[in-house]
Amino acid sequence: MNSRTYLDHSATTPLDPRVLDAMGPFLGGSFGNPSSLHYEGRVARAAVETARAQVAKLIGAEADEIIFTASGTEADNLALIGAIRASGKPGHLVTTAIEHAAILQACKFLAAGGTRVTHLSCDADGLIRPEALLRALQSNVTLVSIMAANNVVGTIQPLEELAHLTKLNGALFHTDAVQAGGKIPLDVNNLRVDLLSLSAHKLHGPKGIGALYVRKGVHLSPIVFGGGQERGLRSATENVAGTVGFGAAAEIARKEMTNEATRLTQLREHIAAELKRLFPNSYLFGHPTQRLPGHLSFGFRGLEGELGKLLTALDEAGIAVSAGSACSAHHAGEPSAVPLAMGYDAQSARGLIRVSLGRFNTQQEIARFLEILATIVKKLHEVAERKAAPQSMLEADPTFV
Ligand code: PLP
Repeated sequence: MNSRTYLDHSATTPLDPRVLDAMGPFLGGSFGNPSSLHYEGRVARAAVETARAQVAKLIGAEADEIIFTASGTEADNLALIGAIRASGKPGHLVTTAIEHAAILQACKFLAAGGTRVTHLSCDADGLIRPEALLRALQSNVTLVSIMAANNVVGTIQPLEELAHLTKLNGALFHTDAVQAGGKIPLDVNNLRVDLLSLSAHKLHGPKGIGALYVRKGVHLSPIVFGGGQERGLRSATENVAGTVGFGAAAEIARKEMTNEATRLTQLREHIAAELKRLFPNSYLFGHPTQRLPGHLSFGFRGLEGELGKLLTALDEAGIAVSAGSACSAHHAGEPSAVPLAMGYDAQSARGLIRVSLGRFNTQQEIARFLEILATIVKKLHEVAERKAAPQSMLEADPTFV
C-alpha cells in the first residue's frame, strides 16, 4: 500500500506518527476513567485537560470553552439543536445551501419541530455575500450557522464580516470549521464567533473525536443525557486516547500551520497551472485565492459523464482522489449540491473532481499524479471521440449504418 498516493485529505487524514505516540499510553496502561478520583482516574483527567488546553489554543479560546464530542457531526448537532432548544422558542435559524449534511440534516430536524430555517445561496465562487446575510437578519434571527471553509470546493468564507453582522443583529453565530481547523488561522475572538465545530480526523488526528467551542455566557441544552461529563453538555465516559490525540494534532497543526499552508498552496497552484497547461478543456471550481491551501476542485469538459471511470482508473494506478465529499461518494453520478448552488449546470457539477493535499504529500507524488492523470484523461477523450464519431457520420450521411 506504500506505493499509493493519497490525495483525499478533505475526507480524512492519516494519523501523524507523533499523534499516535501521544495516544499510545492511553490505549494501553493508562486506562483510567477521568471521573474516577483515584490515581488512574487523575492521570486520565490530567491528559484530557491538557488536550482541552491544546485544542483551545489552536483557535484562541479558553480551555473551559471547549466541549469534546464524538465527531464534527455531533459538534454541529449540539451547536444548532442545543442553541435553539436553550433559547426556549422554535426560533429562526439562518444557514447556507452549501453546508455539510451534519448542518443541513440538523436544520431539517429543527424545521420539523417548528424552527424557521433560511438557506442563503452563494455566488459563483462559493462565497456567501454579507448583503444576503444582512437581508435575512432583518427578520428576527436566533442563530446563524455558516461554514468556515467548504468541503467540496474549498472556498473560505468572510467569517469575520458575517459574524460581525450577526452580532450587530443580536443573534448567535456558529461556524462549522471542520475543514478549516488546523489549516488556516482561526481566532474565535478576532472572528467574534459564539460556537465553532472541529474534528480531529481532518487534521491528522484520530477519528471519532470532535469539539465544540462554546463562548462563555452562551447557553446550550445538551442533546446527549447521562452522567453530566463535559459540563453537562456531552455525557459519556470520555474517549481519553482520542482526546489526547486531538490535543497533540491541534498542537502540531498550530505550530506548523504557516509553513505547511505555504507548502500546500504551492503544490496546489502547481497542479492548477499544470491542469491549465495540459488540459485546455479543464475548469476549476471555487474561489481562485480565498480557498483552503491544499484543496483543488476541477472538471474536464466532455468527460463529465466519465467521472466514475476516471476515478477508478486513478485508484487502480494507486491514486486516491474523490468526487465531491466522502459522504456523497455513494451517490455517484448525482451532482453535488454545492456546485449546483454556485450556479453550475448539472452536467458540469457532475464532473467535479476533488484533490485535497495533506502533510505527507510530496512534489514527487504530485508529479506522478499529473502524469497518470494526463494519460487517463487522454485515453478517455479518445474513447469519447470514438463514441461520438459514428454518431456524427450518421448525422452527415443517414445511409451510413
Ligand atoms: N462538517 C464538514 C464541513 C465536514 O467536511 C465534515 C466531514 O467531512 C463534517 C462536518 C463531519 O465531521 P465528522 O466526520 O467528524 O463527523
